[in-house]
Amino acid sequence: MTLPLSNRQSAQYIETDVVLIGAGIMSATLALLLSELDPNLRTLIIERRPGSAEESSNPWNNAGTGHAGLCELNYSIEQPDGTVDVSKAANINEQFQLTRQLWAYLVEQGSLQNPQTFINSTPHMTFVTGEDHVAYLRARWDAMRDNPLFAAMRYSENQTEIAEWTPLLIAGRATETTVGCSYDPTGSDVDFGVLTKEYLRIVADRGNEVMYNFEVTDTASAGKSWLVKAKHTGGGHGLVVKAKKVFVGAGGYALHLLQRSGIPEANGYGLFPISGQFLTTSKRAVIAQHNAKVYGKASVGAPPMSVPHLDARVIDGEHYVLFGPFAGSSPKFLKHGSIFDLPLSLRTHNIVPMLQVARDNLPLVSYLASQILLSPTKQLAALQQFYPEADLADWTMVSAGQRAQIIKRDAAGRGTLQFGTELVVGAGGTISGLLGASPGASTAAPIMLGLLEKCFADQLDTWRPQLAKIMPTWGTSLANDPVLAAATMSRTAEVLGIQPPTPRHS
Ligand SMILES: Cc1cc2nc3c(=O)[nH]c(=O)nc-3n(C[C@H](O)[C@H](O)[C@H](O)COP(=O)(O)OP(=O)(O)OC[C@H]3O[C@@H](n4cnc5c(N)ncnc54)[C@H](O)[C@@H]3O)c2cc1C
Repeated sequence: MTLPLSNRQSAQYIETDVVLIGAGIMSATLALLLSELDPNLRTLIIERRPGSAEESSNPWNNAGTGHAGLCELNYSIEQPDGTVDVSKAANINEQFQLTRQLWAYLVEQGSLQNPQTFINSTPHMTFVTGEDHVAYLRARWDAMRDNPLFAAMRYSENQTEIAEWTPLLIAGRATETTVGCSYDPTGSDVDFGVLTKEYLRIVADRGNEVMYNFEVTDTASAGKSWLVKAKHTGGGHGLVVKAKKVFVGAGGYALHLLQRSGIPEANGYGLFPISGQFLTTSKRAVIAQHNAKVYGKASVGAPPMSVPHLDARVIDGEHYVLFGPFAGSSPKFLKHGSIFDLPLSLRTHNIVPMLQVARDNLPLVSYLASQILLSPTKQLAALQQFYPEADLADWTMVSAGQRAQIIKRDAAGRGTLQFGTELVVGAGGTISGLLGASPGASTAAPIMLGLLEKCFADQLDTWRPQLAKIMPTWGTSLANDPVLAAATMSRTAEVLGIQPPTPRHS
């Protein structure tokens, strides 16, 4: 059916049950789960780009870390008494175990064929130098070693042992340097782009549709339904979709669309964009010596998720080593966005919190400025902190994805910068959207379980048995059940062809 939109343009009209805006890992995960839970539910995904996973979910735009709290120090918080609180790391790990269960289920069903196209065993390591940092890492290890989620983790302050885990860290390093390192062989590298495309293939095979080259411009309430309007990016006819539910999985553009919908829950938010770059090498001699993701400690002012790390990657089946991301500043909310994204996002309800954040985060602002001005020599120096014998001639700089960090009012009404993700739900659960970027793609499955609870509460009891088949440990704590934790991790590792949680001997 074709509807008049204006005097000059006509639009295709479609009715569906759920419309999902954006073809990244979040929409793809939700569409996949819905198709598992109710095969009769019609879903339509609308994407502005010519293909899926062209923004943050693209493997070149993120770091591909299967975030499980094994190596990222921003999830392990140092306490005033010198101990380390690892509850956040454990929580991220529990979430990643749910994601692994979804993947294992899809492999067992035959929906995903070859897990090594999207997940590969890549030990997760944390490496620090200097007495203070080593003392912190040791305290973190003390807090983690008895937790069943970290049963395979090892720790060393011995350069020879660390060199056995990954030689690049130690070769050329002064022997008297104090070093500390944790090593977890159960870590993984994940190609979220392959996963997004595979999920969408499964969803399309089940009779749902993905429409590319349509950019959603408006979401408006229409009684008990929503009208979603999109323009064709190539100048063709537009689209009007009537749907009972809307999910805004538009990455950095989600906030704008949520605000256009008029739901009060989207008020008060702003976005702080942070861009990034990776140094990358495909030199065989480097790749052959490095099969790990090595995270370090953040510099003063650095946003936690921009701590550089030296990563073995498998992208589209090819092996690389990447170092980064180097943070930067750009007003765009998407990599394929506009330089007007930031100024056009200013509203009367978010301008004060955004200015407060700029004022209260001067170390971050100055860190970003310093990163933009980083000379190749300083980039090499940063790389050499991890890989002392690195030669810049072997490395090329590539652009990473854009992160749109959340600015939100706290209880006292002040703007604060947040580094996590946040689900915004309005109009009785008929519209929702995801803001923020971290830990992101690794936790897409549990994030979407949270969405089901809020937006599909009426159906949830009917769906629980199927959800229990897909993610059997949903609602239980693996950290409190060593036997279940070991069994679950071993089972998913076997199905996914990755390293099982072999317990350490000491
Ligand atoms: C530098 C960097 C490193 C990261 N590293 C990791 C990591 O190691 N591990 C991890 O788990 N996560 C990581 N993340 C986070 C992770 O990449 C994101 O959380 C995840 O990819 C977000 O998925 P998404 O589907 O919400 O968004 P995206 O993948 O950005 O998808 C949004 C989609 O919406 C489309 N869109 C936008 N506006 C419209 C519109 N108006 N109409 C139609 N379509 C629209 C876009 O074109 C895009 O395709 C990283 C992110 C960055 C930037």
